[in-house]
Amino acid sequence: MNWENNVRKVVPYVAGEQPKDQNVIKLNTNECPYPPAPGVEAVLHDFDCDILRKYPDPDVSDLVSVLAKRHGLSDSQVFVGVGSDDVLSMSFLTFFNSGKPILFPDITYSFYDVWADLYRIPYECQPLDENFCIRKEDYFKENGGIVIANPNAPTGVMADVAVLEEIIRANPDSVVIIDEAYVDFGGQSCVPLIGKYENLLVVQTFSKSRSMAGMRIGYAMGNEKLIKYLNDVKFSFNSYTMNATAIAAGVASVEDEQYFQETVAKVVSTRERIKKELSRLDFVFTDSKTNFIFAAHKRVPAQEIFDALRANQIYVRHWNKPRIANRMRISIGTDEEMDTVIRFLEEYLKDK
Ligand code: PMP
Repeated sequence: MNWENNVRKVVPYVAGEQPKDQNVIKLNTNECPYPPAPGVEAVLHDFDCDILRKYPDPDVSDLVSVLAKRHGLSDSQVFVGVGSDDVLSMSFLTFFNSGKPILFPDITYSFYDVWADLYRIPYECQPLDENFCIRKEDYFKENGGIVIANPNAPTGVMADVAVLEEIIRANPDSVVIIDEAYVDFGGQSCVPLIGKYENLLVVQTFSKSRSMAGMRIGYAMGNEKLIKYLNDVKFSFNSYTMNATAIAAGVASVEDEQYFQETVAKVVSTRERIKKELSRLDFVFTDSKTNFIFAAHKRVPAQEIFDALRANQIYVRHWNKPRIANRMRISIGTDEEMDTVIRFLEEYLKDK
């Protein structure tokens, strides 16, 4: 009975909780508090179920095409997947095969080390500085690939595109993945560098700024050779990753640029207002360019505030990990939700 010796054993990624109770204020997984574009609802409402008899378009051409147009790229420079998690996972599998360690920051999206372990890719974490900024020199050594979230999660900190460009330029023998899950909330995108560097892959998602985490759409943009290699792996794995409803809803979202801009602007304006409120309550935080704030209180430990919030049906995220154990990540909700949070904190911190 030795079959267990041959199991691919992995320690899975732990996602933020999805409580069944719909009455909680849910600020723990960076979802958007506003609905998807009205066109998305219309498409789903009018969806012709007969279409489901057939397999969906394996090339996802309609969605690839609107995304390429929006980003000023050609269709052969865009790859679509089931959320950016799927796209990132496929990218690790496709591009990180040298046997040399891949590099990413010590504090970043905690799925990177899970994929590395899953695919048996060696990795070395590079410490962010005391302000949670990347030190570019850390990425000038030999490596099997690089992945950097920009803006970073859970810190919210944005690196300058000029710094990332130096890293991309210094690593012509590696693929550099820039994970731009949060870039729409005020970050600078690396997409304009795609024409210049064939080793650059930029990944974005519909889960945050397009309010479609539940639909699972993410995409990668890069040189057409990179995209072809990604497609080769995808078609060797599962040809039909994108279902017919997701494709139709995704197209409708991209077609409404105005709604997208308005939604993002609302989240950014709430974020900036809440930063001021949190300062007033003696919190310190990074200058987040995302849809969350990574905050520590000057006197009260994060774990205590986290527990108090939770007991009052307010869910935020907290990690018991080195360097960040005294911080909480608070996603930006509606103005009303955030006002409730601030009112609660005001009361809770009064005598502390
Ligand atoms: N990258 C980062 C940095 C994230 O925080 C997330 C959200 N958990 C993702 C990628 C994945 O998002 P999704 O799969 O929903 O596109």
